[in-house]
Amino acid sequence: MNQPDMNNDIERVLYSEAEIAKAAKRVGEQLAADYEGQTPIILSVLKGAVLWTVDVMRHMQYAEVEFIDISSYNGGIASSGSVDLVTDLQTDIAGRDIIIMEDIVDTGRSLKFMVELLKDRGAKSVKTASLLDKKDGRVVEATVDYVGFDVPKAFVVGYGLDYKQLYRNLPYVGVLKREVYDPQHA
Ligand code: 5GP
Repeated sequence: MNQPDMNNDIERVLYSEAEIAKAAKRVGEQLAADYEGQTPIILSVLKGAVLWTVDVMRHMQYAEVEFIDISSYNGGIASSGSVDLVTDLQTDIAGRDIIIMEDIVDTGRSLKFMVELLKDRGAKSVKTASLLDKKDGRVVEATVDYVGFDVPKAFVVGYGLDYKQLYRNLPYVGVLKREVYDPQHA
């Protein structure tokens, strides 16, 4: 049976596989320099940040990796406004340096939620490295310390980012065609 090609659902590519690899190297090498002599915990936010996490951490030195799952999106294209902790991380982070690995920071609600959670638990420091920073989407104050790309206000998928759990495996980041999530636009 012929499978439809998911690349056809993409309106335009914003960041190619090669551009993302370069950004991961740049951010990973910067983190390696900034955390020289330390062993930070890389906290990868499931599921979107997994590809970004593994590509960045290849360029780092000593580091541990942990995962956290939070939800704010309900699988659609708009943030629900409230953030829930779905799966907690499995280690004591008191006194540790944490680097949150995000796929995208939009309203900033998810990041603010995590930073407050980690600080409440006694993290020594909390920084954020996000593949994409959608600065125009900010509703609450949230700072991204290491940015792959500043992304315009569009709904993007690929390289970890999904729409209804699909497209995460695209090697690039692109804008999803409107007719995919809005059938009336076809
Ligand atoms: P925030 O809490 O900053 O509004 O949103 C963070 C989360 O919203 C991200 O981790 C991601 O799951 C989702 N998100 C925000 N913008 C986009 C987007 O353009 N595409 C996709 N696929 N997810 C997004």
